[in-house]
Amino acid sequence: MNVSKVLIIGGVAGGASAAARLRRLNEHIEIILFEKGEYISFANCGLPYYIGGDIKNKADLTLQTPLGFKKRFNIDVRTFNEVTAINKDEKTVTVLNHNTNETYEETYDILLLSPGAEPIRPNIEGINLSRVFTLRNIPDTYRIKDYIDNFVPKAAAVIGGGYIGVEMAENLVQAGLSVTIVEMQNQVIAPLDFDMASILHNELERNGVTLKLETALEKIEEQGSSLKVVTNKGVFNTDMVILAIGVKPETKIAAEAGLKLNQRGALIVDDNMKTSDDFIFAAGDAVEVTDFITNEKAVIPLAGPANKQGRIAADNICGIKSEYRGTQGSAILKVFNLTASSTGITEKTAKRLGLNYEKSFTVSASHAGYYPGAEEMFIKTIFDKETGKILGAQIVGSEGVDKRCDVIAASINFKAAVSDLTKLELCYAPPYSSAKDPVNMAGYVAENILNGISKIFHYHDVSSLPKDGSINLIDTRTKGEYMRGHIDGFINIPVDSLRERMNEIDKSKPVYIVCQVGLRGYLACRILSGYGYDCYNLSGGYTLYKEIIK
Ligand code: FAD
Repeated sequence: MNVSKVLIIGGVAGGASAAARLRRLNEHIEIILFEKGEYISFANCGLPYYIGGDIKNKADLTLQTPLGFKKRFNIDVRTFNEVTAINKDEKTVTVLNHNTNETYEETYDILLLSPGAEPIRPNIEGINLSRVFTLRNIPDTYRIKDYIDNFVPKAAAVIGGGYIGVEMAENLVQAGLSVTIVEMQNQVIAPLDFDMASILHNELERNGVTLKLETALEKIEEQGSSLKVVTNKGVFNTDMVILAIGVKPETKIAAEAGLKLNQRGALIVDDNMKTSDDFIFAAGDAVEVTDFITNEKAVIPLAGPANKQGRIAADNICGIKSEYRGTQGSAILKVFNLTASSTGITEKTAKRLGLNYEKSFTVSASHAGYYPGAEEMFIKTIFDKETGKILGAQIVGSEGVDKRCDVIAASINFKAAVSDLTKLELCYAPPYSSAKDPVNMAGYVAENILNGISKIFHYHDVSSLPKDGSINLIDTRTKGEYMRGHIDGFINIPVDSLRERMNEIDKSKPVYIVCQVGLRGYLACRILSGYGYDCYNLSGGYTLYKEIIK
């Protein structure tokens, strides 16, 4: 295909990536980039941190300017220029220049769409009040920041406990507000399972955030100087509302042009990022992707995929065969002193799809315990029960969560099994890790489960364990640990006294063991198995149990 002119709609993650790659591949193509807003290539992901004050300079939010893009890439960037129609038969777009209010047409050989996704604003009373904000771009950010600076609100309600909602909650607390999150589900951060999200609930509450879970917003009313937030579970007052209940692809003009969309309004593209029209490509939050694990069609709005898809589209436009292999949903989030990350599918998804999966929890130190400052991290690994193939992982902790999740994300990308995690040779020195890295440990534990060396039970099984003496319930921690808190019905036999006190355990009945994080329970199970006991270890131990079960 002879391509001499490419138009791009959307000047941020997907659009700007595509534009720069196009230029690097071809010095002579004419490239025009339309952005309806004032800014291009800005740091959407950094916006909450400007509001909270971690990012201090406005200028740091913009990574490129139209002038910079012109100078470096010779790209004609037209900000405040909104494409209002795609005329695919004529291969033109209609553009409204908001600076002059004039409308004009521009021809193309190839059109690339990266219009992103816009915040969902449900049709409920009060949603358009001036103190109800959404956050997508720089002007939204300034609106929120200016409101906080000028009116000094004391309280904020964040509607929606997704990534943006939780990041905003933290940053509003940092800005001095008292924050309530209203979330319809029983947990925040849907890409985590309830168990791992519970750890975040505790952290949010420790930092003063009020969580209203399983609560739906019904309306918002002005009430004197404050706002009345009406939910299905009651009413509370606040000074401002951040609406963060999700995003929807911004594909109105694509729909009007007759491009194929899925039911959620996302553009359907092939592996080369080509839409249903041979001359139109698309990338980013506006496109449907294939879930890397399940092969289901999905819409997963993340910056990494948007950037990669923009580059892949540019490659294909320039005749370089390049394929997008699907989205794993690798994501990470700071929640006060914790970091939460996930990659691949959750247990919820594995259940919904009826997959034959197993899960394991490991609690590991972020680096060698004898070197100061090590912190606990919880790893949940979800894997295929037959093949051991890793389906997903979720990690919550502080130091080093990101690199562990990235290692597992890379492993998933190469279709690894949990046994492969045991073989990874990862960087080690005491300040950074342990000779057996937490990722290796997750692999060892899962491998032991798969090959039957270790039998486990989970925190959610505990309440249904009979307390009538028909099974043995043993807590293998030290007496001190046991005294500081234990699960009702479990008797204390520390692992180091187990061999001497084995006669206290009835061999004819199964043994359920708990320890602090699962390690001593595993050791106890191995000892007891050697003497013919049928033994089960609580995955993640008492530490995980206490995070989840209140
Ligand atoms: P966008 O970056 O949204 O860009 C689309 C652009 O197209 C917009 O500027 C829009 O004005 C313009 N446009 C739309 N229609 C037209 C038109 N008709 N004419 C002209 N211009 C048009 N992702 C992560 O992976 N990690 C994070 O930590 C993270 N944090 C985020 C925090 C916030 C507050 C937000 C809002 C998003 C965050 N994301 C994060 C998501 C990430 O920013 C998006 O996935 C990514 O920006 C999508 O890129 P895109 O090119 O598809 O769309």
